[in-house]
Amino acid sequence: MAEKIFRVNMSDLSVKIEEVPAAWRGLGGRALTSTIVAAEVPPTCHPLGKHNKLVVAHGMLSGTRAPSSGRLSAGAKSPLTGTIKECNAGGTASQLLARMGIKALIIEGLPTASQFYALTVTTDGVEIKPENDLIGLGNFEVIEKLEIADNKALGLLSIGPVGERRQLAANISVKDPDGKIRSLGRGGLGAVMGSKRIKYIVLDATDAPRKIALADEEKFKGAAKTFTKVLIDHPVSGTSLGDYGTDVLVNLINEVGGFPTRNFRTGQFEKHELISGEHMSELMKSRGGKPKHGCHAGCVMQCSQVYVDKEGNYVTSGFEYETIWAMGAHCCIADLDLLAQADSIMDDIGIDAIETSVTMGLAMEAGIIEFGDGPGLLKLLQEIKEGTPLGRILGSGAGATGKVYGIRRVPVVKNQAIPAYDPRAIKGIGITYCTSTMGADHTIGYTIATNILKCGGFVDPLQKEGQVELSRNLQITTALIDSLGFCLFIAFAILDDEKGLPAMVDMVNARYGTSLTIDDMLDLGKKVLKTERAFNQAAGLNNAHDRLPEFFADERLAPHDAIWDFSDEEIDEFWNF
Ligand code: SF4
Repeated sequence: MAEKIFRVNMSDLSVKIEEVPAAWRGLGGRALTSTIVAAEVPPTCHPLGKHNKLVVAHGMLSGTRAPSSGRLSAGAKSPLTGTIKECNAGGTASQLLARMGIKALIIEGLPTASQFYALTVTTDGVEIKPENDLIGLGNFEVIEKLEIADNKALGLLSIGPVGERRQLAANISVKDPDGKIRSLGRGGLGAVMGSKRIKYIVLDATDAPRKIALADEEKFKGAAKTFTKVLIDHPVSGTSLGDYGTDVLVNLINEVGGFPTRNFRTGQFEKHELISGEHMSELMKSRGGKPKHGCHAGCVMQCSQVYVDKEGNYVTSGFEYETIWAMGAHCCIADLDLLAQADSIMDDIGIDAIETSVTMGLAMEAGIIEFGDGPGLLKLLQEIKEGTPLGRILGSGAGATGKVYGIRRVPVVKNQAIPAYDPRAIKGIGITYCTSTMGADHTIGYTIATNILKCGGFVDPLQKEGQVELSRNLQITTALIDSLGFCLFIAFAILDDEKGLPAMVDMVNARYGTSLTIDDMLDLGKKVLKTERAFNQAAGLNNAHDRLPEFFADERLAPHDAIWDFSDEEIDEFWNF
C-alpha cells in the first residue's frame, strides 16, 4: 500500500488525499514535518494565522518492530519562538498513522466561523464535524467522554482549554496505550491547533492492516534483534532509565553542580533527595505504582512510570526529570506528591510542563507567590485553567511573564524556557540552547550524555574545549533519530556500542528496500538542521538570536564558580558544517 498525504483545509472544510511527492518519499518524522513546513509555510507569516500549517507525521520506522520507534512528530511555525518547530511524543498515534498508510496529515487554513471542530481520520479520508459538547474540557475528560481509552485501534490528538485560547505554551496531547496522555510539549503547537479551531483528532485504524509491509522481513528481524540487544545491554538505556525514570538525573546533576536552583541562582538544591528518582522509585514500589512503564508499545527502555498517591490512586505518568526539576529546585518545592498533582493538571489543561514550571519560578521571582510555595503554585495553575488575566500571562510562558513583570533574569533562548541543566556548569548544553533551531531545548542535542554520563567519550562540562563540536555532532544525530521515530534515549547506547548505528541503518534499508549508508543517514540529519536554520533566517532570525541571556555571563554559579564565557564567534562556529 503506497502511503498518502492527507490534507485538510479548515478555510473551506475540504479534504484532499494526495500522492507523496518524490522529494518527501524517503522522509518521516522531523525530516518530513520540517521539510513540509519549510516548503509550504511562509517564514514571516503569523503563527496563528491562515498561512501557518500544522503537520503531523509518523517516524520512518514507526509501526515496525524496531524498539522504541513509535514517536510522533508534529511541526509548524511556533507562536512561542517564531521559529520552525518540531515536537515529538510517544503515545499510539505514530504507529496508527503508519499502519493507516498516512505519511503526513497537513492541516492548513483557518475557519471563518468561531465554531470548533473535530476530525475523524480513517484510511478512506477525514470527516470534519462541528464540536460543541467538549469545548472547555480538559484532555482527560475528552478521552473519557469519547469512550476511547481502551480501544487500541483509536488514537487521539487533543487540546485543552489553554490550546483553545491559543496561549503560547499550549501543547497537543496524544493518547497513550493506557488511555492516558503524552505531550507534544514545546513551542505552543497546541495554540496552532486551537487557531485552526480543532478540539481533537481521532485516528481510527479499525480498517488498517495490522502489520506494515517490509521490503526484507528477515533482514529487518535480524537488525531489530541486534538493535534491541544494544539498547538492553547499555547501563543507561537498559537499566537506569527503567529502574528510576529520567528523574534518576536529579542526584547526578545536583552532584555536578548543574542543577539550577531558585531561578538559576545556584547549581545545587539542598532538598534534592526528596525529589530524586531513587526516592520516587521507592515510593512507587511501596504504594503499588509502577516505577517502570512505556509511553508506547515496543519501548524496551521504559523510562515512564505510573505515579500513584498514598491511597494507591493514579495521579500521573510520564513524570519527567525536567518537570520535577523546574517545580522542584527552580521553584524550591521538595514535595513529589504536590509536583505529581501539578503535572497531572498541566496534562489535563494542555500546557507544556517545562515552559509552565519555569514560568512558575518567574512568578516567584516577581513576588506573585513565594519561592517554595507549593499550594500557591497549584492556585496559579488554576488561574491558567480558568483563563483569568494572570492565568493568560502565565500561560504565555516565561518570556512573556518576565516582560510583563519587569524581570531581568529570564531564562529563555528565542523566547523558550531553558530546561534543567545550567549552561555555566554544563557548557555543552549551553551551546545546544543557543544554537537550537527551536529555542532552548535540551533534547535537540543532549550533551549531558557525554558531558556527564560519559557516553561516547567525555568532554569536561566546565571547560569550553570540544563543546561546539559535541553539540553539533549530537544535534545532527538527534535530527536523524527524530526523523526515524526513535526515542532520543537510544542515543546513549548508539554512542557507546558500535553495533548500534549499523543496525539502525539496516532496519531503514530493510523497511524501504534502500541501500543507504551511515553517512547518507547522517547527511539527512545535517540537511534537516540546515532546512530549519534557513526557515528561521527567512523569518528574520540571525546569529544574534543564538545567545544566552546576559545574566549567565554576569553571575557566577556555585559550587564551581562557573560562568558562561563563550564569545559570539565561538558560538557561531557551530554552523560551519
Ligand atoms: S524511553 Fe521513555 S520516553 Fe523513550 S520511548 Fe520509552 S517510555 Fe517513551
